[in-house]
Amino acid sequence: MTTGNINVSVENIFPLIKKFLYSDHEIFLRELISNATDATLKLKHLTNIGEAPGVEYGNPFIEVKVDKEAKKLHIIDQGIGMTADEVQKYINEVAFSGAEEFLEKYKDSGKDSGIIGHFGLGFYSAFMVADKVEIITKSFKDGPAAHWECDGSPKYSLEEADKKDRGTEIILHINEDSLEFLEDGKITELLTKYNKFMPIPIKFGTREETKKTGEGEDEKEEKITVDNIINNPDPAWTKQPTDLKEEDYKNFYRELYPMQFEEPLFHIHLNVDYPFNLTGILYFPKLTNDLNIQKDRIQLYQNQVFVTDNVEGIVPEFLTMLRGVIDSPDIPLNVSRSYLQADGNVKKISSYITRKVADKLKSLFNENREDFEKKWNDIKIVIEYGMLSEDKFFEKADAFALYPSVGRTYYTFEELQEKIKDAQTDKDDKLVVLYASDKDAQHTYINEAKERGYEVLLLDSPIVSHLIQKLETSKENISFARVDADSIDNLIKKDEEKISKLSDEEKEKLQTVLDEVVPKEKFTVQLEALDSNVSPFTITQPEFMRRMKEMSATGGGMMGMGNMPEMYNLVINTNHELVNQIVNTKTKPKQERLIKQSLDLARLSQGLLKGEELTNFVKRSYDMIK
Ligand code: ADP
Repeated sequence: MTTGNINVSVENIFPLIKKFLYSDHEIFLRELISNATDATLKLKHLTNIGEAPGVEYGNPFIEVKVDKEAKKLHIIDQGIGMTADEVQKYINEVAFSGAEEFLEKYKDSGKDSGIIGHFGLGFYSAFMVADKVEIITKSFKDGPAAHWECDGSPKYSLEEADKKDRGTEIILHINEDSLEFLEDGKITELLTKYNKFMPIPIKFGTREETKKTGEGEDEKEEKITVDNIINNPDPAWTKQPTDLKEEDYKNFYRELYPMQFEEPLFHIHLNVDYPFNLTGILYFPKLTNDLNIQKDRIQLYQNQVFVTDNVEGIVPEFLTMLRGVIDSPDIPLNVSRSYLQADGNVKKISSYITRKVADKLKSLFNENREDFEKKWNDIKIVIEYGMLSEDKFFEKADAFALYPSVGRTYYTFEELQEKIKDAQTDKDDKLVVLYASDKDAQHTYINEAKERGYEVLLLDSPIVSHLIQKLETSKENISFARVDADSIDNLIKKDEEKISKLSDEEKEKLQTVLDEVVPKEKFTVQLEALDSNVSPFTITQPEFMRRMKEMSATGGGMMGMGNMPEMYNLVINTNHELVNQIVNTKTKPKQERLIKQSLDLARLSQGLLKGEELTNFVKRSYDMIK
């Protein structure tokens, strides 16, 4: 037996390891299983290339065993193993200096540094949960097995062992603070979290299965005991798209999110090996207008080992609403988020994903437009958000972004332009796109627009004001106006001369009584000579102010706009019969009553009449009809 001191240059490395990222202690298991997997895959490679003569690769698996009584956790593999010399070299020297370097680098970096701590501590992370660690290992090469032991001080011992089978067994003597890692439930949880898709089968205990034997009358159900294999070593994303059917993608979605009962709308298979390596499958889930962070998120893997489900900084923000898996060994993990975003590979990965998503949407649109339209409502948030946040995506989205009308016709922007250009170009040659955000609340206004033969879009996502703003600045000679932003003739101004039925004198009289009755602090009165069948009183809300307020409510827009009071205009149609009547009513109380009643009706159709005012209105109306 040899004993020795691990060459410690960082003072007290073991206490440091124990303290390191307290909340991340559980990663020790992933690290050890990764090592076991690597050792197995290396052997596979060596046998494949004929470098391991006489060795039978077979069907190796990794086994995790809990010995609760003795407080030991075993991780056993059938991989290449190590000779005593290799233990000396890889464990005492290489692995140790690796762990040392890792800790030296990150001991001051704090916990909020994002992805730091996800990888790199390796074998020595075992000391986060163990007082003592043993390695019993036999190399695939001839020679005796080795037994290494270290109790968390820099002292270790190394002696011969009588292990007969090839491979490595790691034994952790779990410390008093970490007894939870002796619970079956905890180990199952960790294995499922980190190792669910690792490439070598992982066995944890056994489970019962029912098996049918015999036929006809002899048929019996028999309980049999089988190995409990935790993982699926061949997850869908590691396969070629051509080898997968629609059903396989759906099954994989269920495997990823067992608690998710809604089916995904469609998937995107990512597969690239130059200039970086990336595989994965992204799913578009059904999204509602609720922008809250969801629980089921995109998971990041490296060579089938789970790293994190926080892909912020790696995937463009608008795509973090998707689900699925990305697997790339080319994403640096021991760095902070801000460094990550500056990394060249990560930037390329991010724009690759954006491009793939745009291409997929385009092909879905081209292949089956009807189906795409059906899904539009569920996917529009992601697309609109993407158009706002990524210029590249904005350009590409022209081919598939849809603008639905209140009557459910879905236009691309180009189709929309074509459809409305004759009717909705104003006298200054500007194309005015009319839209509503709520079909019911804005019904009156939509109707007036339709009567003019105008098309009204229904744009109701929470971020639509931002998108409109962006469309106006990136397309030429276009402006958007919500149907209730002004009287319809003012929204799309034509050259026609307007003839007023009221004389200037009558207008002045009207203005005077309106000023007395209409509360000035709420409404700006606007006399307009409109079509005689346009409502006599209409409340409008100027587009610019409303949009800016909406934008600042959802983040952005102009500073301080959110606090501005609501501003409304009261448009009076001087050509309407009722207005004519108001002007010519001789008795003052009756004149006032007509104005009040009309104003309330206008408020009612904007949804602005509430509380006591509504009660009074209803009372007054009954009095009028009795
Ligand atoms: P890394 O895996 O990043 O190289 P580790 O500290 O986890 O660092 O391990 C150091 C080395 O010890 C490995 O590179 C490998 O050579 C050896 N090793 C660790 N675990 C095993 C194992 N289960 N079987 C064979 N070799 C192992």
